Amino acid sequence: MSELSHKDWIGKASTIRFRDKAFIDGKPVAARSGRTFASVNPATGETLAKVASCGEEDVDLAVTAARRSFESGVWSRTSPAHRKDVLLRLAQLLRENLHELALLESLDMGKLVKDAATVDVPGSAAIFQWYGEAIDKIYGEVAPTGEGDLVLVRREPLGVIGAVVPWNFPLDMATWKCAPALAAGNSVVLKPAEQSPLSALRLAELAMEAGLPAGVLNVVPGLGETAGQALGRHMDVDCLAFTGSTAVGKMFLQYSGQSNMKQVWLETGGKSPNLVFADCGDLDAAADMAAFGIFFNQGEVCSANSRLLVQRGIKDALVEKLVRHAAASQPGDPLDPVSKMGAMVDARHAANVMRFVDAGKKTARLVAGGDLVTVNGRGSFVQPTIFDDVAHTDPIARDEIFGPVLSVIAFDDEAEAIRMANDSPYGLAASLWTDSLSRAHRIAGRLHAGTVSVNTVDALSPMTPFGGFKQSGFGRDLSLHALDKYTAFKTTWIKY
Ligand code: NDP
Repeated sequence: MSELSHKDWIGKASTIRFRDKAFIDGKPVAARSGRTFASVNPATGETLAKVASCGEEDVDLAVTAARRSFESGVWSRTSPAHRKDVLLRLAQLLRENLHELALLESLDMGKLVKDAATVDVPGSAAIFQWYGEAIDKIYGEVAPTGEGDLVLVRREPLGVIGAVVPWNFPLDMATWKCAPALAAGNSVVLKPAEQSPLSALRLAELAMEAGLPAGVLNVVPGLGETAGQALGRHMDVDCLAFTGSTAVGKMFLQYSGQSNMKQVWLETGGKSPNLVFADCGDLDAAADMAAFGIFFNQGEVCSANSRLLVQRGIKDALVEKLVRHAAASQPGDPLDPVSKMGAMVDARHAANVMRFVDAGKKTARLVAGGDLVTVNGRGSFVQPTIFDDVAHTDPIARDEIFGPVLSVIAFDDEAEAIRMANDSPYGLAASLWTDSLSRAHRIAGRLHAGTVSVNTVDALSPMTPFGGFKQSGFGRDLSLHALDKYTAFKTTWIKY
């Protein structure tokens, strides 16, 4: 737990050095075109840095460096024990640089610095550590062919992995892709979101300090339609791992088909339902976690519990508790440890969120929030917002808003709850609250979601696969299964 005061964080923020170059082949470099884009603090509107805006040529240099390092074996053919050592050192360096990394996350995309210091950065370190510790415990297979043949089935690293990640958890999303890909022996080209390139650039530096050879982890900040597209279409990228919107995920499938048929793994949007049954024994806990599930990280969470489906008899009592939570979770300065909610990532996204809120005011009953506000006269902050009496067909109950906006929908029985929960193009996560064990198992089995959390929300760990059904994508991050994305099976058949 970080014990720094508001003044401490402001002091540290004033001394921070922002990395503003791409990181290619072990070195910081400007974009070949000389172009830059502004990295802006959404809480204040201040420009933090002018960051290299990579184009096709820069992406090509990064992929060439990644390929060269991969083929040289400088990382890909080292022992798993060596890769483990380096990844454990990197995990340690992330912990040693906790405050700097937490500030980079907060300043770059508006989240609360105390969350970045207690959730994002420790989470990233834990995941590098987990994959480091796992990689020397994974065995190949010997096929049961019988005497005269020895058939080995081994996992090999794929080669060059492209990773394109979003802005909501910049360091964590980069880590979810890079840690298993690197552990398996691949080389990586990472494109962070244009709103949040700073922690990825620092991560690449720390990885070198930990002992990762030059060219194994490259970072190409830039715009999606240029740098992201160039990576998606590159003929020498073997696999593209993406987290972001469903619309852009579909583009990556097209890029692959139009280029080298690279593997594409998608973790995309969500509209996760949270089902609360009348037999839930602890309505206070359900309210606490429902509020956390939609207001944490300003609701900018792909698995946010944005649809609250409540059994009619307990709905009003639950909504009353949630309204109290909303009142106590008003936005504040992200660097102040007492603040409850940070800034939206940028004014454009805040305006998108407000378009949904304004539409919802006409079709549902606003019971909390509903306004765009500033903090200290600056930034774009959206109040924690709750709509009651929402029809489950209403756009605020169907579309991914990606902000702190909750839609409350009443149901009468289990069948109706399951039908409404599954009536969505998405299927990333779901939660349900009940004291009945058999109901919990029955419903968990029927919900179309990659993760079902029972009597909690949004449960995840490095040990469990994270990803979706339907248009939430089909990639699985985390757990040993993530290694499936970054390895290929090689069969060696020996006659004797
Ligand atoms: P995007 O899907 O647009 O961005 C995710 C990543 O893809 C970024 O690195 C982005 O780069 C890149 N990208 C964007 N356009 C292209 C393109 N044409 N070709 C290749 N790469 C591209 O998400 P946004 O950040 O714009 O957010 C929009 C919506 O997506 C949100 O409102 C939310 O609904 C959803 N979203 C879901 C997330 C999740 O975790 N599942 C995370 C973030 C957003 P750049 O940023 O430079 O454009």
